Order: sequence, then C-alpha cells, then structure tokens
Amino acid sequence: MAEFITIKSFEYPHEAQIIKNKLETEGIFVFLKDEYTIQTDNFLSNAIGGVKLQVMKEDVITSKEILALFKQEYQSTLQEITLAKDTIVNCPNCNSIEVRKSDKMKGFVGVILLFFGIPLPVYKKEYHCFDCYRDFKVRIKGN
Ligand SMILES: [Zn+2]
Repeated sequence: MAEFITIKSFEYPHEAQIIKNKLETEGIFVFLKDEYTIQTDNFLSNAIGGVKLQVMKEDVITSKEILALFKQEYQSTLQEITLAKDTIVNCPNCNSIEVRKSDKMKGFVGVILLFFGIPLPVYKKEYHCFDCYRDFKVRIKGN
C-alpha cells in the first residue's frame, strides 16, 4: 500500500487546490486530506490543522522542489502588483504589515473604477504575508 506524507497544510481548500493542480501538471499524484470536512465548515480548519496536502512517499522531495519554485514565481508576481497602492492590512497570523494583495486583476479593475468615480462593490480581497507566508482574506468595503 502506498504511503502518503503530508508536505503542506492550508487553511482554505481553494489554496490547496491551486497547489494540487500545480503538482498534478508535473505528474505527481496528490491527495487532499480533510478537504471536504473543511469545505463543510471553515471554522473547523484551524481545529483540525487545515487541509493536508499529501503525496506519495517517493514523490516528497520532487514535490517540495516544485513547491519552492512555485513560491518564487508567485512572489515575483505579487511584487509586480504592489504598484497599485492599497489599504494597509495586517497579517492576522503574525501581525506583520509585509502583506500584499494577491489579486492582480481586481486591483487593476479597482483603479479604473476609482478613476471614473464608480463605487466599488464589497468583495473579499486575498492577501499574502511575506513574513509567515500565509494567505488570508480581508473583507473590504469599496468606497
Ligand atoms: Zn504573517
């Protein structure tokens, strides 16, 4: 029987899905433990330690390498986004202000909408913390 090893855990199932898709395109079999439990009740996520991303024992090293590369790409994308100024947000996990909005399209659309004086709808923005590397969401009321 194949042995599965947890290589990373995520608070939100959609984050785990992004990484799962990435690994699967590299030919790695991925199992998300507790994904459905957390989808049912998000508050359970912290209690049970989030969604566990598991791979087979022989894929652990390759998977970690892919994740490290993916994180680099992801961060350089985030740094390009910071051109658009945004509300200062603190990381709910470590309270750092080294956070960046990880939503490039919405940021761009937001700038256009502000330029034309059209009120922005209320929507959730996703942030990424550069100190503890966690992603989190903040509900912001637009204009
Ligand atoms: Zn943090």
